[in-house]
Amino acid sequence: MLSWRDGQPFSARFGDVYFSDDSGLEEKCHVFLRGNNLPERFSALRCGDSFAIGEVGFGTGLNFLCAWRLFSETSPPSSSLDFFSIEKYPLSESELADALALWPALRPYADELCTKWHRRVPGWNRWCFDGGRVRLTLVIGDVMDALTEVRGGIDAWFLDGFSPALNPEMWTPEVFESVVRASRPGASFSTYTCAGYVRRGLERAGFRVGRCPGFGRKREMLQGELPGLPPPRPIVTSAIVIGGGVAGCAAAAALAMRGVPVILIEGEPTLAAAASGNPRGILHIRLSAGMGALQRFLLAAYGHVLALLDERLPVDGESRAECGELQLATSEPELRRIERLAALDWPAHLMHRVDAAEASGFAGVKLEHGGLRFPAGCWVSPPRMCAALAASPLVTQHVGHRAESLTSVSGGWRVSGQDGGGRAWAYDAQVVVVCAGYQARSFVQLSHLPLTPVRGQITAIPETAYSERLQTIVCAKGYITPSARGSHLLGATHGFNDEAVDLRVPDHAENISKLAGMSAALAESLSVDAVAMGKLGGRASVRASLPGAMPLVGESLPGLYVSLGHGTHGLVTAGLSGELIAASVFRQLLPLPKTVVDELATVRGL
Ligand code: SAM
Repeated sequence: MLSWRDGQPFSARFGDVYFSDDSGLEEKCHVFLRGNNLPERFSALRCGDSFAIGEVGFGTGLNFLCAWRLFSETSPPSSSLDFFSIEKYPLSESELADALALWPALRPYADELCTKWHRRVPGWNRWCFDGGRVRLTLVIGDVMDALTEVRGGIDAWFLDGFSPALNPEMWTPEVFESVVRASRPGASFSTYTCAGYVRRGLERAGFRVGRCPGFGRKREMLQGELPGLPPPRPIVTSAIVIGGGVAGCAAAAALAMRGVPVILIEGEPTLAAAASGNPRGILHIRLSAGMGALQRFLLAAYGHVLALLDERLPVDGESRAECGELQLATSEPELRRIERLAALDWPAHLMHRVDAAEASGFAGVKLEHGGLRFPAGCWVSPPRMCAALAASPLVTQHVGHRAESLTSVSGGWRVSGQDGGGRAWAYDAQVVVVCAGYQARSFVQLSHLPLTPVRGQITAIPETAYSERLQTIVCAKGYITPSARGSHLLGATHGFNDEAVDLRVPDHAENISKLAGMSAALAESLSVDAVAMGKLGGRASVRASLPGAMPLVGESLPGLYVSLGHGTHGLVTAGLSGELIAASVFRQLLPLPKTVVDELATVRGL
């Protein structure tokens, strides 16, 4: 918890201040920005290049804001900045806002950070600022766990733990070695301390270290560099994305944010025509207590997509409704999962335990079970989400263009196919991203992938006087959304190896039968007889799944990337997958821990 001493933020846990009481802003600029020569290095960036800063100790985010401001003032317009930082004890929203209110000159930057802050999740957070020119990767966790997982290469380090005597775990030889391993050749560091063992530790790890004048009352500070010159990052000027669902639109958006013109190819006459075409879809993550790669990915993807939607999709009840979600403990195994999960002490803005009475209060209808509440849970219109993601002027949409083959050509790939009138077309690009769901197997290069089609049907059921009271998404074996435009959506069935998209009465019956496990009152109020069941609306589509539930995201052959097998999680996982692909294409800092990146790129079940 943040304390205040003499008008300055102070950590009672460590007994130290977050910055010097002379002038925090000037101190940060002196020690970290000038200490790493950033004004000169930012202005020397080539168009399209990127620069990566790594920090240990995010604290109030002041260093981040100072670096962002300097970058926006000094760098060429088409360059970008990655800022990677680690924080074990994140401030609350009000603490962050109070601490940053000290710096009126940084207000526009601080406001943007505070807006994203309520989307933070434990683990890796990737947020984009300034139209994507500045990317923050904030790891909420311990310094060592995070440092060993960095991939992509850091150019300059801000070593900003509390004073070494009070916060020794931030200044260990292992930390310094991990800093060096995560660096690019020629990377620099600076820090306000000039403690002898810090200097010796950094030297032993590989830095050439020097002393220079410190700030204010501090006589000296340390700065240094690694030997070598960083290799240039690739310049990518053309990309093709195959598939106009949420995975393809998100990949196109992330590439376009990096200034690449993208051709987005969709075989159907509109975007979001297949698995992303339901009128409403829920942002749902089912976590377990073990923090394996899938859990870490889902959490990071959830925080990322919530922040992405904040920028791109209004909460207007048509595009998106932030109504929260309840996951009910309707069976013994579910109760055990929820109890194990709840025992991990999650931030309340992400999820919290509720009993049946509290759950009923949030839902507005009577529920027999408690469970977990996700306050940020929401439904979105997937077609609107796709349209919003693909709306960049750098994205050219070619709908009604069926891609049929991929050929390796000099400097990249050729995609060939036919349009709706049977006319042949072909486009070349340096990079191709295939996001075509289970149909990706039709390309020879991807025919080995164990993608399974899974038919899913949702049911639209007219609201009743009672069900209209439902305020939140409720999930147990199935789910129900609050009423919008007079009906609830219930979902969804799973028909493995079934590619048909006809509406089926038994599937409606299955969706409706799951209501009884959530709320007897809702089930009774929404019960329909066999005749009415045949008239219910809904939609069936085919998702793609892979063994193990982890999607497949990464480079399959040089220059050929895939974002596939998102299954029922696509609305959550597509955004961060697109960001991962775009960062990989440019050899930038990756938005996920390296073990998760490796898992995402692993084909299972062959
Ligand atoms: N750079 C910050 C700013 O601009 O406000 C100030 C950082 S403050 C001096 C040091 C930070 O390191 C604190 O926020 C503290 O919670 C964090 N920290 C301390 N021990 C840590 C650990 N083992 N892992 C990660 N973060 C840690």
